[in-house]
Formats: sequence, structure tokens, C-alpha cells
Amino acid sequence: MAQYTPMIQQYLTIKNNYKDAYLFFRLGDFYEMFFEDAVSAAKELEITLTSRDGGEIPMCGVPYHSASTYIKKLIDKGYKVAICEQVEDPKEAKGVVKREVIQVITPGTVMEGNLLNEEENNYIASITPFSTEHYVIAYNDLSTGENSVAQVHDGWDSVVSELFNRPVKEIVIPTVLDEHQVEVLKEQLKLTISYEDEVDMPEEYRYLTNTLSENELKIGFGRLFQYLKKTQMRSLTHLQPVTYIELNQYMKLDMYSKRNLELTETIRNKGKHGSLLWVLDRTVTAMGARMLKKWLDRPLLSKDAIEARHRLVEALMEQFFERESLREALKEVYDLERLSGRIAFGNVNARDMLQLKRSLQQVPRIIDVLYSLDGEWKKFSESINPLTDVQAILEQSIHEEPPMSVKEGGIIKDGFHQTLDQYRLASKNGKQWIAELEQQEKQETGIKSLKIGYNKVFGYYIEVTKANLHLIPEGRYERKQTLSNAERFITPELKEKETLILEAQEKSVELEYEIFTDIREQMKQYIPNLQHLANQISQVDVLQSFAEVSDQNQYIKPTFINSREIDIVGGRHPVIEKVMKNETFVPNDVKMDENNNILLITGPNMAGKSTYMRQLALTVIMGQIGCFVPCESCELPVFDQIFTRIGAADDLVAGQSTFMVEMLEAKHAITKATSNSLILLDEIGRGTSTYDGMSLAQAIVEYIHDHIHAKTLFSTHYHELTSLEATLKQLTNVHVKAEEHDGEVVFLHKIQQGPADKSYGIHVAKLADLPEALIDRAYEILQQFEGEQKVIKPIVKETSDQQLSFFQEEVNKKTSKRSSAEEYALNELKALNLLEMTPMDAMNMLYAIHKKLKS
Ligand code: ADP
Repeated sequence: MAQYTPMIQQYLTIKNNYKDAYLFFRLGDFYEMFFEDAVSAAKELEITLTSRDGGEIPMCGVPYHSASTYIKKLIDKGYKVAICEQVEDPKEAKGVVKREVIQVITPGTVMEGNLLNEEENNYIASITPFSTEHYVIAYNDLSTGENSVAQVHDGWDSVVSELFNRPVKEIVIPTVLDEHQVEVLKEQLKLTISYEDEVDMPEEYRYLTNTLSENELKIGFGRLFQYLKKTQMRSLTHLQPVTYIELNQYMKLDMYSKRNLELTETIRNKGKHGSLLWVLDRTVTAMGARMLKKWLDRPLLSKDAIEARHRLVEALMEQFFERESLREALKEVYDLERLSGRIAFGNVNARDMLQLKRSLQQVPRIIDVLYSLDGEWKKFSESINPLTDVQAILEQSIHEEPPMSVKEGGIIKDGFHQTLDQYRLASKNGKQWIAELEQQEKQETGIKSLKIGYNKVFGYYIEVTKANLHLIPEGRYERKQTLSNAERFITPELKEKETLILEAQEKSVELEYEIFTDIREQMKQYIPNLQHLANQISQVDVLQSFAEVSDQNQYIKPTFINSREIDIVGGRHPVIEKVMKNETFVPNDVKMDENNNILLITGPNMAGKSTYMRQLALTVIMGQIGCFVPCESCELPVFDQIFTRIGAADDLVAGQSTFMVEMLEAKHAITKATSNSLILLDEIGRGTSTYDGMSLAQAIVEYIHDHIHAKTLFSTHYHELTSLEATLKQLTNVHVKAEEHDGEVVFLHKIQQGPADKSYGIHVAKLADLPEALIDRAYEILQQFEGEQKVIKPIVKETSDQQLSFFQEEVNKKTSKRSSAEEYALNELKALNLLEMTPMDAMNMLYAIHKKLKS
């Protein structure tokens, strides 16, 4: 280090402690970065890379006042930023100004409004392993102060599914965590990784974990807390006591199912539009929007709790006008949850206070509406504390139109503070005295244009135009300044008053700031109440949102029953029915009694098989989060888990092939499902050759049938599987009806009993406008398959190995017994050493085989 200047040495010493963050090093009005930080930040932020100390040290910088835009860019990309400030006055510094990191901003700990998505929580989580099966996961949302822990007893996969359940941005792990696991967190879950090995809760914050009974849970949260403490370096008093998430109380939805069912975002473009959340979200407040997402992530298992939500939704649904006034009141409610966090960190201004006041003013309105709904809502309304004292303080103190800055005055109302009123009066009187003086001087000198003005340099002055100067009696004023067409004067009296006015003004601004910070401090003691209120209002908002969508979309209240029967009449897909433009959605029933566990669904492509499967899962989820469902009538058991293998969720990004993903998803279902689960398997086995895939599909159906007994919807294009109905008692065939008119297929999207009678693949290909010659050829091949033809004529010159084996299998499929000529041909083919054959050899061999088969 010796060759570097003292400042760069200081930089390097500090940087050494923040290796995984960009160090924003304060230099005057800029944050500068040096060395590798500078090189990569210049690229990430698209700013100019320069150098210092004779070109030796790469450097780049961002202006202090616009730093937050750059910080946001880095945080959004998953990086961390350590803010290093000058902590002494440069004028008083001996040598290099002292600098320290005052905060590390990371994706999981951002607080600043412009860095946060208001409709989503911003979680940071930690993982603490206690064995290969047992893990504790802790969560925190710094912006709202929410803390929670959960524990998993069945291995790593459940940890990943659990983390996938929440909008987690950053994960804190011990340095000893398995490398492969870290890879999954980074690559599959796309989390920013941070390390923390300390797990003790500091004494003064132990009250946060007193709510937890087990030591492992405290250790799990301790790790997260230590990290927060080290990055935030400021008071964390707004954090709420840690709640324990009993995972057994919630339906388990693994990562695959959540993604496949597009609960909160679509697979294709990761947007909300087109997801279930998009349909259900009629929340009015940001807090409500966040809570809805949480509920969607964790459908309930307790029938009582589900029914309680349904009753609340029902009451709101029946009362349109009350619901409207509730929505109106909620519109005025600001984000109390995040505001509480900012109050704790001391960075709220008078406008925030005003918003807090206006929010609180709505609470009595909300209480009134809920009270009028009677029943459970009445009880609910009685549990809401409107915090009238907080509202009263704010009402009396904060001006209706305060400025952004809290240091310029204009914040506190008249009449709130006696001394402030006195200063204001003094200043006001002084100004009045000056106005009177102006009048008096005009009269006495007879100069009508005489005026008294004010500027920051000279203070108050009397201004007389040059033309009137001769009218001023000798010695009346003291000359102060000459302008091109006027002179400015002062008098000792005027200066005396000026001092009084300015002093009063200065003091009143100072005092206002003091009073404001005092109010802000007072607010801190109400943080837990505000957080509680925020939680209640969020619930009201989500439930009214359910009532609103249910009313608008004609959803009905589902009945949850204790037996394992499904009886849905006229079920619809909540999202597809919303996005359909010219057509209408065809409702379908789902009927599965106690002994009917598997529906084997056949039918042509595009007929609506996966829509049918998905709509059942979405109906179950909607019901279990407390919403009504898109059906005419609906009876369901409470499902403990939902597993899906649907559609093209190939995880090529994570380096897994589609077929591998398919098998992983199937494995999940098969190893974790119980008889109370719902399994959806769509076209399983499709990603491999026909017999291979069909065998797997059949084995999976049999396994679920014999060992799991979960309610299962299984769609397949393997027509052969429909014969399973004869042997598997709990399996029933259904199909999606399609009709053929003049060689064209018309999809009726109607589910009917029994297997589909025909494959419509070629018709669909025709609808998709594949070349006519190709379609004709496909018909020809089909006829050959369907007829008694034993062999398919070769159709292409360069048949690939894969196609050959496919055709080989199709040949096998159609021929129960092979003739000796076929046996011969097969053996000959198998024995070939293609690499050593010339094209001529191959031709000859083919000729011989062909001849033998024809003979
Ligand atoms: P499959 O799984 O049989 O290939 P999908 O379920 O993907 O078919 O459905 C294909 C398309 O058909 C859907 O995108 C939707 O537009 C339409 N569809 C499916 N089911 C219905 C229905 N019940 N009513 C109206 N349209 C439907």
C-alpha cells in the first residue's frame, strides 16, 4: 500500500471490510469508486471510467444528489452498495478526512421508497441448517418491520419451495452451507447471497425472539438479525416480535406448482397480467395488495379458518353500497406499515405526517361501515383501535400544506405551541410596523413612490427614486446603496425592527423543527399500534377485494366437506374466462366420489385438457385462501398439497432438460403427496420416445392408484392408457369432446365420460396450415398404422436414428406377433456396423432386407 496516497490507503482499508459491495466513497459532492469497483460499476451504470494518480487507479463517480438512481440500478441487479461518508468536518480534519461506512444497502434491506415495489414485500431471509433434514428459515421485511421464522423437517427441497413462496430478494447463509445448495439459491431462486456466521441475539433486542419457544428458531433468527445489524448500523426498534409460521397450517405448494399454475406471475413474461393474482386483486391499498400476495402464497388448511373468511366475504358481497363506501375510505389510507418503518428510522417529513393523519381520519369511517354489517364484521370493527389520540395530535400540530423540507418552517399550526406563537406574533407585528412606517414616510416626505423593500444582503431599506431625492430632508435617512435610478436608505429604527423580525423568524423556524422532531419521536411509541392497525386494514382490504371480484365475476361460495369427494358443477377457469374476447368459456363439471381418485383425460390437442386441470387447481386455491370460486356449485375437500406437471415449464436456464424437469416434478408429486393431495399430470412422458414415455406414464398412474390415492387428473395423448379403466378401480376415463365437420375439427371444450374415440392430431396440424402434401402424407401413414399393414414404407432419405427408433416402435405397436421375415430384418438391422459401411453397402443391405420382407 505504501505507494498509494493516504486517501487511497484509507479507501483500501475500508474496502477490505466490504469486499462483496460497491464502496461509494464520499469525496466532496461525489461518491467515487476505485479499482475493480470502478471498472465494473462504470459498465453496470454506463458512466465514464477515468483514472487518478497518473492513470494508475481506475476511478468513476456519481454526484451525491443523484446517487439514489445509481444505487437503485445496482440493487436491482442484485448487488450491494456500502455508503462511506466523511464523518468529520473537512475544515477541522488533520490529514485525511475521517470516513466510515454508515450503511450497507442490499437488495433485501432497501428502505427508500423509490427502491421498493409498493405492492410487494421486500424480504430478506436466512437459512440455518441443523441437519440434512432440519432447517430454520427466518424472514424480515425491513420496510414494514415484519419478522417471522419457519422450520422445515423434510429436507432441502422443502426449503427451496418455501423460499420460492415469498418475494425474497436476498438470502443470508452460514459460510459452511453446501456449495450445491448455494448454487441453487443463486441460479434457480436468483437470490443475492450474503454470509453471516454470528447467531446470537444482542441483549437489547432479545425481546424480539421471546415469542419463540425453541432455541433453534432463536438461532435461525439471530443469524438474520446479526446481518441486519451489521448492514444497517442504525436503530432497529421498529422491528416487530418474530412470529412463528406453522407451515403445517398452510397448503403446501411446491415451487413447480406455483410457477405452473401462474398464481402471481405468468411463466412466459413473468408479469402479473394473466396470473390468478391479476384477476383477484381489487385491493385499494398497497398494504392490502401485499397481504393478498401472502394469502395466495399460503392457502389455509383449517376448514374453520377458511369458512370464517368466506363468511366475511359473503357479508361484504351482499352489501354493495357498504362495500363501495369501504373502498372509498380505503382509498385514502396511506401505507401505514411502511410509514411505521420510516418513523422508526426518523426519516418522515411533515407531508408524511399529514398522510398519516388523513389515513387515521378514515378509520372511524371504516369502523362504521363494518359495524353496520353486523355479525362477525361488527366484532371485527370493535377490535380496531382508531388511534384517535395520534390523529388529534397531528390534527392540532401539522399544517395542512407543509413544505417538503422540515427545516424551513411552515410545518406547525398556529395555536399549537405558545412560544412559537409569540415569535410569529413578533415577526408579524414587526412587519406591520414596517408597513405603517412606509405610509408615514410617504406622507411626511410627500414622495408617493417611496417604498420599503427587503433583500437578503441589506435587509430592510427605504427606496427613493432619483427624481425624488431632493424631497428628503437633510439627515433623515442614512444612505446604504445606489442603484441606476434610485437610492436605498436605512434608519436606526428600521434596523432595530429588522433585527427583531429576523430573530423572531429564525427562532420560530428552529423551534418548529424542534417541535416537529418531538412529534416524530412521540409517534415512535405508537409504532406497534400502527402496525397492528395496518394489519387489520390490510385484511379488510383483501376481503373486500374478494367480495368485489366474486360479485363481478359471479363466483359462488364453495362448501368444504369432510369426505374426499369433489362435486363441481359448471366450473370455469378464472383467468381464461377473463381474457377470452369473442368466445364464451364453456363451463365443465368435475365429479369424483370417494372411490374415484383418478380422471384419465383424453382428447385432441387444444381441446381444453390442461385448462380443465388447471381450473380445478385454481378453484381449490381460491377456495382455500377464502375467496369464492368460479362455478355454479362446488363441494370440495380441503387439500393439503397440490402437485402439478403441466405445460412447458422447461428449466433450460437452470440447465435442466424439459424431460428432466418433467421427471423431477413427477418425483415431487409421488414422494410427497398424500391421499388428501391433488395431483395434476399433463401429458407426462411426452418428452421421450413413445414406448418409453407410455410405459412411464402407465407406471406413474398405477403407482398413484395403488400407493397414494390422491385425487389425480391425468391427461394423456397415449390412447392406449384408456384401457386401464378395466383394471384400475379408482380410475375413470373422461375426454374432451371435439366434433368433426367436413374434415375440420370443432372443439367443444366439453368434458364427457369415457375415452376419446379418435386422435385429431392431423386435423389440428391442418388447422395450423401445415403444407398440404405433408398432411396428405400423414393421413397415408395413419391409414397404414390403422390398417393391417405390418411395415411402414420408408419416407425420407436420411432418416435419423431417433426417427428410425420411433418408427420401429410404432411397427412393434401394431404387430403383436412378428413374422420370421421381420425378426430377420430386425436382427440384421441391429447387427449393422454403420460406421464401417459404404453407402453402397447400405443400399445393398437395405435391398436384401426389403426383398425378404416383401417375399
Ligand atoms: P389441451 O391441453 O387439450 O391441448 P388447452 O387446455 O391448452 O388444450 O386449451 C387450448 C385452448 O382452448 C385454450 O387456450 C383456450 O383458449 C381454449 N379452451 C380450453 N378450454 C376451454 C373452455 N372450457 N371454454 C372455452 N375455451 C376453452
